[in-house]
Amino acid sequence: VPDRVAKVLVDVALDREFDYHVPAHLAERVAPGVQVAVPFGRRETRGFVVGLAERSERSELKPIRAVVGKGPVISEKLLELARWMSVYYAAPVEQALRAVLPGVVRHRQGRFKERLFVTLRGAEAPAAGPAADAVAPGPCDRPAPDPTPALRLLDPLRLRAPRQADVLERVIATGGAYVHQLARAGPGAEAAVRALEKKGVVTVRKETETRDPLARHTILKTEPLPLMPQQQDALRLIAQAIDTRHPSVVLLHGVTGSGKTEVYLQAMDHVLRQGKGAIVLVPEIALTPQTLERFQGRFAGQVAVLHSGLSEGERHDEWHRLLDGRARIAVGARSAVFAPVCPLGLIVVDEEQEHTYKQDEAPRYNARDMAVMRGRLEDCAVVLGSATPALESFWNARTGKYALAAMPHRVDHRRMPAVRVVDMRVEAERTGRVSVFSRELLDAIRARLDRAEQVMLFLNRRGYATSLLCPKCGHVATCDQCCLPYTYHRQNPRLSCHLCGGLRPVPDRCPGCQDPAFKFAGVGTQRAEEAIAKLFPKAAVRRMDADTTATKDAHWHILREFRTGKIDILVGTQMIAKGLDFPNVTLIGVLHADLGMHMPDFRAGERTFQLLTQVAGRAGRGEIPGEVFVQTFTPFHPAVQAARRLDYEGFFEQEVEFRRQLQYPPFSHLVCLELRSRVEARAQFVAAALSERLRKELAPQAAVAAAAPAPLPKVKGWYRFQIMIRTRAMQAVAARLKVALQAARLPADVPYSVDVDALAIL
Ligand code: ADP
Ligand code: ZN
Repeated sequence: VPDRVAKVLVDVALDREFDYHVPAHLAERVAPGVQVAVPFGRRETRGFVVGLAERSERSELKPIRAVVGKGPVISEKLLELARWMSVYYAAPVEQALRAVLPGVVRHRQGRFKERLFVTLRGAEAPAAGPAADAVAPGPCDRPAPDPTPALRLLDPLRLRAPRQADVLERVIATGGAYVHQLARAGPGAEAAVRALEKKGVVTVRKETETRDPLARHTILKTEPLPLMPQQQDALRLIAQAIDTRHPSVVLLHGVTGSGKTEVYLQAMDHVLRQGKGAIVLVPEIALTPQTLERFQGRFAGQVAVLHSGLSEGERHDEWHRLLDGRARIAVGARSAVFAPVCPLGLIVVDEEQEHTYKQDEAPRYNARDMAVMRGRLEDCAVVLGSATPALESFWNARTGKYALAAMPHRVDHRRMPAVRVVDMRVEAERTGRVSVFSRELLDAIRARLDRAEQVMLFLNRRGYATSLLCPKCGHVATCDQCCLPYTYHRQNPRLSCHLCGGLRPVPDRCPGCQDPAFKFAGVGTQRAEEAIAKLFPKAAVRRMDADTTATKDAHWHILREFRTGKIDILVGTQMIAKGLDFPNVTLIGVLHADLGMHMPDFRAGERTFQLLTQVAGRAGRGEIPGEVFVQTFTPFHPAVQAARRLDYEGFFEQEVEFRRQLQYPPFSHLVCLELRSRVEARAQFVAAALSERLRKELAPQAAVAAAAPAPLPKVKGWYRFQIMIRTRAMQAVAARLKVALQAARLPADVPYSVDVDALAIL
């Protein structure tokens, strides 16, 4: 056997591979994807073998010390995907690898922890070892010990040893818990457990932890439903894609309630029958027990769940269940796109337009796009599902890059709600001021409350009151070059376009109607809540936004109260817009549709349309038809008009024309480069110099804009500047950008970030 060389990517950030010698006794076990321990400098570090070679350019290679774990933890395809990601998103390779492989898998490979498990004395231990294939039994299936002695101890303990009382209460309530889980609730848990053990109330034993996050729910098995014709057509198209040798991407465009999930389930069944597995991505906010149950209920023990709410241990176990093939279906948020399902037959991305699929730290990948790329690398089918697909995705379907399946009808044949547009300029004219609620909306609220129906009021105010809007005529100060609202900077007042970097003085009267009251008059959710409570003193009004849901379960608590009818009017931000299903909500008011529209972001129109469509989907889910009022200063805006008619394609046609004229995505790719400094002048100087430099280095493939202050120019004491880059050849430009940024050697006190295919450019 000739001496071999392994290319190893070490865990420390150096963005390059190192050659190591493979000693003869390890030759059989060293393969791509295997984790190894290698000498590095004077230390030893971990790394991944990313390739093998016969010889190396360098002499005197150091040997690999050891192979960690049983075999590869990452397939060659996933390694390839990580490499592609690092190039495309201009991020270091090991950073990409870190995104692909959860930390807990990288660091504790092959270790299934023995954990200390506490039960009340006399209780049986839970079944150890890998989760059984059947629907997992809940803790209540175990014979429960008599809790009376423990309960009797609780009260005296509470005075003398409150920690012990807390622990004991948890153990009684859950029927048993791992010590490390108890420890998460506060310090001193371990000592408390030991003390309780000494008292003879609890028993502690070592167990191989089976951390099945779904084990605590009892889930009913469901059978496939007979499909409606539109679902049959969609499934047929997807099955075709699965069965070809080089599968394509299918865009499933189906209105809310059209039965998309049932189609996903049956498509997954199709790949399982071929001995392959599937990945389902859902937005983080949709990862509720109800969503998971739909998959778990159909496929029982085959489902592994991956999301940020899992403990490290759970994540480790779920990952390994997939790697060993004990589970064949991964359901999760963003990062589940890298789940080790093998062989992989299908990736489903539900609500594919969601911005939460974009990772907000480096590498800033979009899980939807990574799904498409992974599908291409692994020859597996990809289904993108949505009621309001991203413009880019629908464009790809239009141009034949994706196949399109349309499901325009609701399964239950319920009518879509009527959407009414209220012109707030008329209201301002009539009352002489800018009001929060129009007379039409107030009348409608009164009528609904009289009939004991529920109302949702929606105000998307996230604090970016940064554009200038005339309340009389609806005029918005806009950059001629980019058709984007100017950002209004309050300190030394000026307008700036953050896409092209153009600056303008603030006009003292409206260019449209010459009114001097030309400024933003904003209202937040809190003021709206107060105002509506005063107008309807007998109604129970609650607010749901980032402020009222800061504590862990507040979100669910408010929704439960709303569901059970304890709340009449719910006021909220986009938090209440998505995925919620309340049959008794018959009226929805959008208080200020313009708010999102006039953000300095060319996707503002698209986002407004999606939001309005989603909000409208919340009304009339039950027997009574719903009604939606959209209050706006720009009633003829295409996004508002299309939302009124619930006309996706109409919106698409207009919007795509706008994008084409200005060469916005999908006609180009947009990179947002951001630089920060504690000192404004320094950030500005470095950004300006970098912009100059990049303009030369990336020409002629990319257009590099002048550096400009970000729409939120100062965040937590950091001054932010942006450089926008547009190109049609993203892959080539990304590679050059990465090199150029390294060569530029930016000062350490001016950190920067690169966002390729940026979605949020605030
Ligand atoms: P979507 O994911 O498109 O919003 P869902 O899959 O949630 O729609 O379907 C909406 C409702 O219709 C669900 O309660 C689902 O169980 C039901 N449903 C879906 N397909 C069928 C069908 N073929 N027959 C009867 N009910 C169905
Ligand atoms: Zn501009």
